[in-house]
Amino acid sequence: MRKNLFLASACIVLIALGCSKEQETIQPQNYLKSGSVYLTFDDGPTGNSTTLVSKLKTAGVTATFFIWGNRISGNLTGFNAIKSAGYSIQNHSYTHSHMTSWSYAQVYNDLNQCQTAIKNQGCPAPKKLRLPYLENNATITSAASALGLAIVQPTVDSKDWNGASTSAIISAVSNLQSGGNPLMHDGYTTTDNAISQIVTNLKNKGFSFAKY
Ligand code: ZN
Repeated sequence: MRKNLFLASACIVLIALGCSKEQETIQPQNYLKSGSVYLTFDDGPTGNSTTLVSKLKTAGVTATFFIWGNRISGNLTGFNAIKSAGYSIQNHSYTHSHMTSWSYAQVYNDLNQCQTAIKNQGCPAPKKLRLPYLENNATITSAASALGLAIVQPTVDSKDWNGASTSAIISAVSNLQSGGNPLMHDGYTTTDNAISQIVTNLKNKGFSFAKY
């Protein structure tokens, strides 16, 4: 009886080993990249925001919007579309100025005005900053840091701001690597029309989508 039990146990162990070995050889994930990418859009809200949000919703992905603070009051419909979709709303300064010649106080006040404008719409205080024109120096870095803002530099440039075609935008942004984010903007039909294929390409590579 004891011997039979031993044999039965041994069989179960062998079957289990057989199963796990089979699972090891059938893992399509091995051929896919892992990790997340961040779809990021600068310069909104604009008259384009509702269209862009709708494209993102159809594609079923989340996103982050780096908001140009003094555009909020004139584009509340767009702002609310971004907010109610649950996308991340972050800081892109209030006046979108060239700040490298500014004093610490000037930089601090401009970035803080954007924080306030976003919080006044019932959103949490941003923790991330996209610099206008991506221009940085020690004064800007320290003002951002004092406001609890971490600077997010893009890892890929879609060139949508420079007249890139939809297919060129798709091609550039599909090169995102794990943890990366592209320079893209809220305001171009070319960008809006690229969303669906960008998402398909990145999903096919195995990436998921995160927001800041
Ligand atoms: Zn910008």
